[in-house]
Amino acid sequence: MAVELDGRLEAVVDHGADTRSLFLGLPVPFDFRPGQFISCRLPVGGEILNRPYSIASSPEETRRLEIVLNLVPGGPGSHYLFGLAVGAAVRFTGPWGSFVLDRAPEAETVFIADGTGIAPIRPMLRRGVATATGRPLRLLAGAAARDRVLYRDELDALAREYPAFRWDHVPSAALADEVRRRWVDGDADRSRHFFVCGVGAIVPAIRDVLRHAGYERRAVQYEKW
Ligand SMILES: Cc1cc2nc3c(=O)[nH]c(=O)nc-3n(C[C@H](O)[C@H](O)[C@H](O)COP(=O)(O)OP(=O)(O)OC[C@H]3O[C@@H](n4cnc5c(N)ncnc54)[C@H](O)[C@@H]3O)c2cc1C
Repeated sequence: MAVELDGRLEAVVDHGADTRSLFLGLPVPFDFRPGQFISCRLPVGGEILNRPYSIASSPEETRRLEIVLNLVPGGPGSHYLFGLAVGAAVRFTGPWGSFVLDRAPEAETVFIADGTGIAPIRPMLRRGVATATGRPLRLLAGAAARDRVLYRDELDALAREYPAFRWDHVPSAALADEVRRRWVDGDADRSRHFFVCGVGAIVPAIRDVLRHAGYERRAVQYEKW
């Protein structure tokens, strides 16, 4: 059930010049499913802007949420959030969304994340390995360079701990071609499940590549920002 809460900005972690994580302490436990988002209500220029942000932390951590966001050029919501100091209040509603993973599917599962699109996929991955069925779990992360992939140390650690999990980086511009090469042209297996997230046209482009190749509609889930 969705609620409205005031989070308190407890910590800020910069991942680079224009990407940062905000950690929100919560007054009461907050239940959500891996992959869901909150809608921040941001007081900007005399009005309230509603801006959704995926929850990058895991549901097991009920009293603190992490969101990770880009500073969007000219974007009022992201500039407001980047301007907040530790201690500031952030009002939000949620949880929202049906882009979720509660248990690892009984099939090979492929996560495709472009940039900050890894935010909802991170708790999904953690849930995926925790409920693993022995089927492979794969992540293809789009970013300008491997050392720009968010949470890469954590992903490496996860891959060491869970042999069924592997991740690779690909330049964002090559993401759709790489998806086609691996999971369309690569073999005739169409039993895989996909979770795709990122900003803009790349997301429906990848969705269409997969669905047109014969993957079931409901096996290709996506969230486009
Ligand atoms: C379900 C959902 C979950 C989201 N989760 C996240 C998240 O976890 N992290 C995050 O950074 N954003 C996320 N977004 C996008 C976020 O809600 C805002 O749109 C974004 O912060 C830009 O807001 P703004 O007011 O600064 O700029 P606006 O003026 O509202 O947007 C300007 C343009 O920026 C584009 N844009 C949106 N998000 C990004 C981005 N991340 N990087 C570059 N360009 C972008 C939009 O397509 C838009 O055309 C999510 C959006 C949705 C719908």
